Amino acid sequence: MLSRDDVFNELGIGPVWRLRDGGAPAVPPVSAYDWDTLAKAVAHCTACKLHTTRTQGVLGVGDRNADWLIIGEAPGADEDAQGEPFVGQAGKLLDAMLAAIGLQRGNNVYIANLLKSRPPGNRNPEPDEVAACRPYLLAQIELIQPKLILALGRFAAQSLLDTDEAVGRLRGRVHQFQNVPLVVTYHPAYLLRNLPDKARAWEDLCLARRAMANL
Ligand code: URA
Repeated sequence: MLSRDDVFNELGIGPVWRLRDGGAPAVPPVSAYDWDTLAKAVAHCTACKLHTTRTQGVLGVGDRNADWLIIGEAPGADEDAQGEPFVGQAGKLLDAMLAAIGLQRGNNVYIANLLKSRPPGNRNPEPDEVAACRPYLLAQIELIQPKLILALGRFAAQSLLDTDEAVGRLRGRVHQFQNVPLVVTYHPAYLLRNLPDKARAWEDLCLARRAMANL
């Protein structure tokens, strides 16, 4: 029978980290990931129940040396099918928002989600799912070393800032996440349903652009 290490090696998701006392394997520290191990870990992740319903894990897309890191909520149906974040209607709006401040997906911009697996029926992320996925996002931030993070919507903003304040109260100022400036704005899917808030999102993008220019 294959040992646990053999299975991990077969899956290509080593290294497996052992406790010093020879106990059970521990979750790799965030700093242990490179892009390759991270991509494999996300592809084969079974850390939460979403792996039973997703088509595939969606790691992220874009420039791995980007100054801008955009963080959304979770893959939807299109993203789950295509393996790339923000490829549906919300993605089209996100691309337009980026273009409005002179940015383009993949060019000095990396796009990721809080959750790497689609919640069934696009329901809200649950706390255990956010917690299980957090190491992957932290590893991405560690690898990318972005100059600025743009958090899209309630779940990304509240999780990163460890708060339950509403987006309406979090937007409009520059926060810090592990010493990286972080700006909160509305999620594009929300903006598709709430057109008047597009003007506020535009203000947030301008704030983010100013913050980046002042770094
Ligand atoms: N909404 C998100 O938050 N992320 C996606 O990738 C798509 C829609």
